[in-house]
Amino acid sequence: MNDFPGRPRIVVVGSTNTDLVTRVPRIPAPGETVLGGDMEIVAGGKGANQAVAAARLGGDVTFVARVGDDAFGKNALDGFRREGLNVSHVRVTPGVPSGVALISVSETTGENAIVVAPGANARLSPQDVDDAADAFDNARALVVSLEVPLETVARAVEAGHARKIPVILNPAPARVLPADLLARVSLLTPNESEARLLCGRTDDFSSLDELAALLDLGVQTAVVTLGARGAALVTPDGIEHVRGFSVKAVDTVAAGDCFTSALAVEIARGRPLRDAARFACVAAALSVTKKGAQTSLPTRAEVEAFLKSRRD
Ligand code: ADP
Repeated sequence: MNDFPGRPRIVVVGSTNTDLVTRVPRIPAPGETVLGGDMEIVAGGKGANQAVAAARLGGDVTFVARVGDDAFGKNALDGFRREGLNVSHVRVTPGVPSGVALISVSETTGENAIVVAPGANARLSPQDVDDAADAFDNARALVVSLEVPLETVARAVEAGHARKIPVILNPAPARVLPADLLARVSLLTPNESEARLLCGRTDDFSSLDELAALLDLGVQTAVVTLGARGAALVTPDGIEHVRGFSVKAVDTVAAGDCFTSALAVEIARGRPLRDAARFACVAAALSVTKKGAQTSLPTRAEVEAFLKSRRD
């Protein structure tokens, strides 16, 4: 039973990857072999990060995704079940490997080099979205990102728009998007570099006011994440800055995913945008205090405890 507004139903359509992370003395040059440290295996992929974040923050989440017919896929599915996600629309794709990200991190500079092998993510199809119609019918919000085929993203956005549920698009990895897709987006959540690309700029925004250009793309609202500085709300009423929370940052992987899902859960609970953005800034700040992707995502209780500690 859905006990909205306590635990609103949310659909997340997107990728799932296993991150294979190795620390290396230096990033290898072409043709070079470098001996690294022990490999760490971390659950990742933008869609899965967003689905897990939304569940930990109190959403009743259905994840629409594909895994391969291999051990990575099986482990990912087991992890989703442990997180309480509805996985009835996570398809196992025979004969295809699961999505994997091969990540080398330099121990000296912290720089990374990443190869993503999308595998089953590249097979997530518009038909998979159609097959999840039951989940869309009951949803209070939809979250989509861009690590799966664009035609699948477009179908999901269309499905959410047709049902008049908030359509929240995290436009990452950055790419130019068709106008008819953007016109159906209720809330866009780019970081600054994604916002620049979407607005066709190569230079930095010189003031937050310039973010108003995002509305010219046809989206109803945008919330631009600004790293440690927090976020900017971009609405037809103007631009508003929501300050970030000061924490000891350890690793910002998945901060944007955490932010997008926190916003989605709060909007699905009927919270005003500014309150939702403040909550998202706390959740994302907590996520940067821990290493890894899904390992770093906070629970609702942790966010509430942090807010309370700041009030006392
Ligand atoms: P992305 O990780 O997608 O590039 P950002 O770097 O803008 O996105 O971070 C997303 C959100 O995470 C920010 O809006 C902010 O709320 C939070 N955040 C990121 N870095 C920090 C930090 N160093 N301190 C506190 N909060 C942070």
